[in-house]
Amino acid sequence: MKILLVFDFDHTIINDNSDTWIVQCAPEKKLPNGLQDSYEKGKWTEYMGRIFTYLGEQGIREDEMKRIMIAIPYTPGMTELLHFIGQRKDFFDCIIISDSNTIFIDWILTHANVHAVFDKVFTNPAAFDHVGNLTLQNFHLHHCAECPTNMCKKKVLEDFVARQSEKGVQYSKVVYIGDGGNDLCPVTFLKKGDIAMPRQGYTLQKRIAKAMAFINSSISAWSTGTEILSRLKLLLE
Ligand SMILES: [Mg+2]
Ligand SMILES: [Zn+2]
Repeated sequence: MKILLVFDFDHTIINDNSDTWIVQCAPEKKLPNGLQDSYEKGKWTEYMGRIFTYLGEQGIREDEMKRIMIAIPYTPGMTELLHFIGQRKDFFDCIIISDSNTIFIDWILTHANVHAVFDKVFTNPAAFDHVGNLTLQNFHLHHCAECPTNMCKKKVLEDFVARQSEKGVQYSKVVYIGDGGNDLCPVTFLKKGDIAMPRQGYTLQKRIAKAMAFINSSISAWSTGTEILSRLKLLLE
């Protein structure tokens, strides 16, 4: 049986937030105040959609966005970790569950030549429309009260594991690597023997500490991809 590795994207694989990084495309690298302040809790894709429309109106085109997005730094040690996983696909299946979008993630993974490491990328579908504006959709509908309207990462993980199981693929262990508040919900899906890996000092680690009654997996905080790599090597012994 393989091990399933589940990665968040922003502040986990890359060392910043792709959705806020895109603002560097805007004139003077900032948004008008009304737009900047228009976020409503839980409605992240609608908010990003307004930002993409604004960037389109400013004449920002696909090639310019791509040039800026591929400059986002990977988290230290992360590309080495991903190359290692890529060489051990006989032991690991590997997926991303992210609240970013398909276009940004494709650009950034392809630029570092690590796209093939991932069996699946679950994120909000994005596309450039006929006038060249980037448009965004919610990933799915769900009934989780804890998560933003567009995505419950626990449901994504649950559904993936169930579909794999129907195909006869069972996992010996699930390892969840993330940093953010929206990574807590999928961590509560983990069973005894699974591993939650929250980034040291980030929101997920604090949220886990307050939610211990709901968590059955072991917990192993990390600061670099190198640390994750050495722990994965131990799992292969
Ligand atoms: Mg994140
Ligand atoms: Zn949820």
